[in-house]
Amino acid sequence: MATGTIFNTGLRSAEYEPAEGEHSATIILYPSVLHDKKLTIIALAHELIHHWENACDTKKFKSEYPKDAEIIITASFGSEIKIKKWKSGHSPKFIAKAFEVSQFLKVSLQQMLVHR
Ligand SMILES: [Zn+2]
Repeated sequence: MATGTIFNTGLRSAEYEPAEGEHSATIILYPSVLHDKKLTIIALAHELIHHWENACDTKKFKSEYPKDAEIIITASFGSEIKIKKWKSGHSPKFIAKAFEVSQFLKVSLQQMLVHR
């Protein structure tokens, strides 16, 4: 399960639960984003990338790791422990896909990664 929070608020934004047994994959969107159309779209897109990475064959996906990603992640989380924890749920492939999707949606990579 991947749980997103809105940066600096600690409020849950969304969750992704992979399919398991008879239960299909699930995306949960929380009220903290549902009041805002743009935040809802960003949170849903973020969780759909988790689903893409978990349920699809991503071996052929080739995309460059965005050069600004490390700056964004470091600025967003500050401590090494928080960065390591966040990265444990967000692979380089996830971050590369998030960059691609952020360009498609015309939102920043920072918004796509940390819902800020
Ligand atoms: Zn996530």
